[in-house]
Amino acid sequence: MKKIISLLFLLVIALFFVQCKNKENQETWAIVLHGGAGAGKNMRPEVREKYLDLLDQALQTGIQMLEEGASAIDVATRVVVWLEDCPDFNAGKGAVINAEGIHELDAAVMDGKDLKAGAVAGVRDIKNPILAARHVMEDTPHVLLIGEGASAFAASVGLTIVPNSYFSTPERLEQIRRIREKKENPDPKGTVGCVVLDNNGNLAAATSTGGMSGKRWGRVGDVPVIGAGTYANNNTVAVSGTGHGELWIRRCVAFDISALMDYKGYSVEEAAREVIFNKIDKMEGSGGGVICVDKNGRIAMEFNTDIMYRAWATASGQRGTAIED
Ligand code: ASP
Repeated sequence: MKKIISLLFLLVIALFFVQCKNKENQETWAIVLHGGAGAGKNMRPEVREKYLDLLDQALQTGIQMLEEGASAIDVATRVVVWLEDCPDFNAGKGAVINAEGIHELDAAVMDGKDLKAGAVAGVRDIKNPILAARHVMEDTPHVLLIGEGASAFAASVGLTIVPNSYFSTPERLEQIRRIREKKENPDPKGTVGCVVLDNNGNLAAATSTGGMSGKRWGRVGDVPVIGAGTYANNNTVAVSGTGHGELWIRRCVAFDISALMDYKGYSVEEAAREVIFNKIDKMEGSGGGVICVDKNGRIAMEFNTDIMYRAWATASGQRGTAIED
């Protein structure tokens, strides 16, 4: 009897230590954002500095909200609004231009708590497509609205509607001119996304883009396709992707990362690396990257392109911004 009691006692102590260890590895909140991936060797130092600063400003917006106890879905949405309003990224103002000379934007949000999701695709006049995606998630029984129907819905819930020219910047007009003259290849770089774990253990993902520059009119990329460019599930991970959207759709990239963690017990780093370097890498196309945060606040940021604009922070004090490897 005495032996059994001592064994039970030891077991309780061991369980206590395992519990403490797990708590130690558990972040109370974590946030990662991206500003796109692509080609970008030899970036001028002043351009690099400017982007690092913009990424840090967007990150700070999210950190402050998390410190004040905001929910993952609110933080992810707000950070993406910030990035959409910034003309230096391929989302909202500053989005790329399609082959017809028009901006057509895609965006999606997903809440890992209840697997609710909302998205808009091919929209031309919604100032902040990510807000429209959020309203689709919260105020309709649907997941994805497109084109004019999405715009009418956005107007009906009071979102700001703008002329298509609002999204143009001199850089984007010059870019499409060069693509048309075949002096530049279409490069998707600049899509934005944010993944968050909040203080209540909820995960969320938000992604927004102008898509691929010079894309065909009506083309929709991976961003608003839930499970391709955007996914969140409290049991596993929140993911936001960037890159050659057709590959992301065909490979169900974001869901695949979650599935590897769920079914095979991969860590978030292993799952992200497997998908980017063993699956996407083997396909023809220009690649890209993903940002991920898992249910414990562990972060993965993997890309097979030259660069991926990114920033991250956790409650325990990790914080950084980076562009190259
Ligand atoms: N994935 C986006 C798309 O294909 C582009 C990007 O990430 O830059 O629409």
